[in-house]
Amino acid sequence: MSEIKTIVTIASHSALQIMKGAKQEGFRTALICLENRINVYTRFKHLIDNIFIIKEYSDIIRNETQKILLDLDAIIIPHGSFVEYIGIENLYKIESPIFGNRKLMEWEYDQWKKYELLKSAGISVPQVYNKLNDIDRLVIVKLPGAKGGRGYFLAMSKDELIMKAEKLNIDLSQAFIQEYIIGTPMYFHYFYSPIYDRLELLGSDIRYESDVDGLRRIPYNIVEPTFTVVGNIPVVLRESLLTQVFDYGEKFVKITKTKVPPGVIGPFCLEAVCRNDLKIVVFEFSGRIVAGTNLYIQGSPYSWLYFDEPMSMGRRIAREIKLAIENDALDKIIS
Ligand code: AMP
Repeated sequence: MSEIKTIVTIASHSALQIMKGAKQEGFRTALICLENRINVYTRFKHLIDNIFIIKEYSDIIRNETQKILLDLDAIIIPHGSFVEYIGIENLYKIESPIFGNRKLMEWEYDQWKKYELLKSAGISVPQVYNKLNDIDRLVIVKLPGAKGGRGYFLAMSKDELIMKAEKLNIDLSQAFIQEYIIGTPMYFHYFYSPIYDRLELLGSDIRYESDVDGLRRIPYNIVEPTFTVVGNIPVVLRESLLTQVFDYGEKFVKITKTKVPPGVIGPFCLEAVCRNDLKIVVFEFSGRIVAGTNLYIQGSPYSWLYFDEPMSMGRRIAREIKLAIENDALDKIIS
């Protein structure tokens, strides 16, 4: 197992950053790529030793692909598109080692389990409504499978919610209804290193979402806000917020160790809103690299506090793999 030579990921999301980081740490690299994306990724051939073209993402579990990956002594880096594309049912069929905890990816897939995990960690979370009659404030409605904020909508009351759901032809029994927290959305990029037993904060961002972030340009109430992520903007936190940010990060590491052993491994993100009373409320987590880290390919103001060299999240992942190999501790970082 100490034979890991190639860092592999799916050509999407944060793949370029992962490839660059792997090269910086001296690994071979490979990408699994859909044909219609090849035009982008072949432009970065200097970062990618092998590109394997597949017809559909689930081809990753076909015997031929699995054999290629095993022959390359590959480790797979999951990112935001990974589980979404390959399908949760295929997660355990992958024979090559995956960087991170597969079980946490399963939890991440389920809005209710995700919410319970955050809540039981002691992290501040929005109110969740199981009964429509209980709705007493502005809520955001999320549907299963809705990704990147797409398809969410807001409602002020039970009646408005039912009316909108009927208009959109939505089965409300499947909906996850959460209190809408007013404030500044902020996304914290953490890395938990099992090798150093250390929680690091490597960056933070604000997502730019269409059209909610563009609405200041048109009179209020004309357009229904939507939350489709279109990009990311860097943000450095007011330093006094770091107390909450580290506290929440530590709580998350602790709860995942207890409830989803061996716990979170490597990158994760708490997705939050900072209210005007400076209280941070976390509405979501991602148990893997998030696309907001693409901002910091040269490192972030935080990564420089840990490392005297540019340290992107992609490079940090590769560094952890390298350290695990050197310390004969690969079992601590893969599943
Ligand atoms: P998500 O897919 O859960 O990351 O949410 C997509 C976007 O919807 C977020 O980036 C926020 O802008 C918004 N959002 C989701 N949940 C909440 C919430 N409880 N309060 C305020 N905004 C939210």
